[in-house]
Amino acid sequence: MSKSYVVVTYDVCEHNDLYEDMNEYILDSSAGMEEQVKGFAEQDIAPLVKVYETASSDFGELTLYKEYKFKEFECDCEQ
Ligand SMILES: [Zn+2]
Repeated sequence: MSKSYVVVTYDVCEHNDLYEDMNEYILDSSAGMEEQVKGFAEQDIAPLVKVYETASSDFGELTLYKEYKFKEFECDCEQ
């Protein structure tokens, strides 16, 4: 069984102490990770996207693999 990657989008607002997971996606291993992560971030308007690695199919154990930040989707509370 090959490794799978789970992508989780997060809604983050430092001003309101918000750190909330939004959606979970399964990465398509036949396509590039970065493009897919960017697509999910755009879809959810997520300033933070984390990619978790899982060795099994039940997604029981997730290990953080990579973190992507998108400045363009950060909140503009203070502006
Ligand atoms: Zn904010």
